[in-house]
Amino acid sequence: MKPLKDLVRPNIWALKPYSSARDEYKGKTANTFLDANESPYNVPVNRYPDPLQEELKQLLAPLKGVAPEQMFLGNGSDEAIDLVFRVFCVPGRDNVVAMEPTYGMYQVCADVNDVEYRKVLLGDNFNLEPQKLLDVVNERTKVIFLCSPNNPTGNSLDPEAIETVLRGFQGIIVLDKAYSDFSPKPVFRLRINEFPNLIVLNTFSKAWASAAIRLGMAFAAPDIIRLFNKVKYPYNVNTLTQEKAREMLSRRFEVDRWVKQILQERAGLMVAVSELPLCERVFPTDANFFLARFRGAGQVYEYLVSQGVIVRNRSHVTLCGDCLRITVGTQQENNRFLAALRQYKP
Ligand SMILES: *Cc1c(COP(=O)(O)O)cnc(C)c1O
Repeated sequence: MKPLKDLVRPNIWALKPYSSARDEYKGKTANTFLDANESPYNVPVNRYPDPLQEELKQLLAPLKGVAPEQMFLGNGSDEAIDLVFRVFCVPGRDNVVAMEPTYGMYQVCADVNDVEYRKVLLGDNFNLEPQKLLDVVNERTKVIFLCSPNNPTGNSLDPEAIETVLRGFQGIIVLDKAYSDFSPKPVFRLRINEFPNLIVLNTFSKAWASAAIRLGMAFAAPDIIRLFNKVKYPYNVNTLTQEKAREMLSRRFEVDRWVKQILQERAGLMVAVSELPLCERVFPTDANFFLARFRGAGQVYEYLVSQGVIVRNRSHVTLCGDCLRITVGTQQENNRFLAALRQYKP
């Protein structure tokens, strides 16, 4: 890896971050808080939240097998994705590399930040071809984005292909593991000590069933986490979110049961869809959704909408012609979806 200083935007490296009242005084013993221009009324939401979410990180760190200093919490993983651009990429000069197709936010954040976005097509079966990715890297490539299990294709990338990219690139690698709780594949976040250029993303939005609270996680070397904390909004994760996340951690065995239930439903649903004459192919998945190719996917999609069933039409996405992305729901939802499809007359 290049020295971190050479990868970070010079203005960010030099940045003196905003210092909030809650940064300056962190003790617990005081009983009179007249430092932050808060209202004394309407306890507890009158107070600003903990800017670094220390209590929540103390609970999460052991669960994730990392140290609290190796963890960033943000307003969804989308905040972490945007911060990667704002910390590392000089607008109008640097570039990032990503596989195609993949999660749309990488390109949106690249475009917002005026950073060139280089796409490399996935191979057969949506496999990652690491050398093809490394071949488009140049001296201005700061970041490579990998997503596994990938959205919208659902497949996990081969861990060895991921390692080839990690070892062959001198810049930052973001490995988006939003769906890793559904996948049996090895977890890279436990190897952030081995790979100082690796940032792993997780989220509360999928397996943790908490998309509404907007809580994403990034795991990386403490140097990188410090840069994120320097650039983020001071109070990026609100008190209600921090409280709800703590509650979800106390319900983690229920979350495990939900994941098992979803995986079981997914298996049955994929078989049922593959048996429809309308369906040409169901792609393997390690996530809580799967991609399926239909004859005339556009019309199938419109028909499902007319029946009140919404799936994601991915038929205009590169390599996903005539494909719909189907999220696994409850048994009742899945049955409604199947019943509608079975009555479809092209
Ligand atoms: C859903 C998803 C996320 C989650 O984003 P949040 O902002 O945490 O809700 C991240 N990455 C991928 C690939 C996703 O599909």
